[in-house]
Amino acid sequence: MVPMNLLSADATADYLVTGVWSTKAADEAKKIGKVHIAATTKAEQFTRIPRAEEIVLSRGAAYVHMTSNNTIYGTQWKTLPDVGDTPLVSDTSSDMFSRPIDVARHALIYAGAQKNMGPAGVTVVIIRDDLLARSAASLPVMLSYAVHAENRSLYNTPPVFAIYMLGLVSRWLIGQGGLDGIAAVNERKAGKLYAEIDRSGFYRGTAQTESRSLMNVTFRLPSEELEKQFIKDAENAGLDGLKGHRSVGGIRASIYNAFPEAGVDALAHFMREFERRHG
Ligand SMILES: *Cc1c(COP(=O)(O)O)cnc(C)c1O
Repeated sequence: MVPMNLLSADATADYLVTGVWSTKAADEAKKIGKVHIAATTKAEQFTRIPRAEEIVLSRGAAYVHMTSNNTIYGTQWKTLPDVGDTPLVSDTSSDMFSRPIDVARHALIYAGAQKNMGPAGVTVVIIRDDLLARSAASLPVMLSYAVHAENRSLYNTPPVFAIYMLGLVSRWLIGQGGLDGIAAVNERKAGKLYAEIDRSGFYRGTAQTESRSLMNVTFRLPSEELEKQFIKDAENAGLDGLKGHRSVGGIRASIYNAFPEAGVDALAHFMREFERRHG
């Protein structure tokens, strides 16, 4: 929808490619207009976020697209890239509402609700007014941000149950001290797992330290055999869903907002015990 609304056949959009989702986003944009890869860490297996000096923007780009958190590689942008006057578009699906977000520095933010905000079926979009005017009138109405904004997201019947749940989650978040409150919890949760990873060298974090995600903690063991054993023993201990994405292997602990800190403590304890037995 982003390129359909903001890009035209003869214009260029800049993409910061940091993993699977941003690669897919750039591929979709190529169907609509020209795409310039402004930075990518693909050559380093997406183990880090590009540094500021590696980003080469094109002149007059329609927008710059980024993905704030990369679930498969366990990396996350810690500061927003400086894109000057070019509209910044961010897919924040996997870390929305996990920390404060500088909305004013974005032109468009989009996030599927299903990781941090509520049930699948609803996507939150925050779009700057001046970008709405760029939505092509020739677009099918359901794909036009302008139509959804003009109709206050009620052009058709939206997924009301998912929206209601998102409202309840938002209230819960306010009770946690808002985004500052949940960010502190998320720092603490992720910190406990990274501390286990860094403690002895038995576990090896796959993301470079300065790019580590607070949502997805990815790591390897000394062998694939031990990784299989780790996943199996963890399941028996009640710790499920630790298998890394099939494209990269290894272990991935996804610790979104809803994942309790007690679960993180249980995993940290399990990691220590596993290392004691197999290290
Ligand atoms: C999870 C995710 C999506 C959406 O994927 P689903 O398969 O619909 O859950 C899109 N972008 C990013 C950055 C994601 O992390």
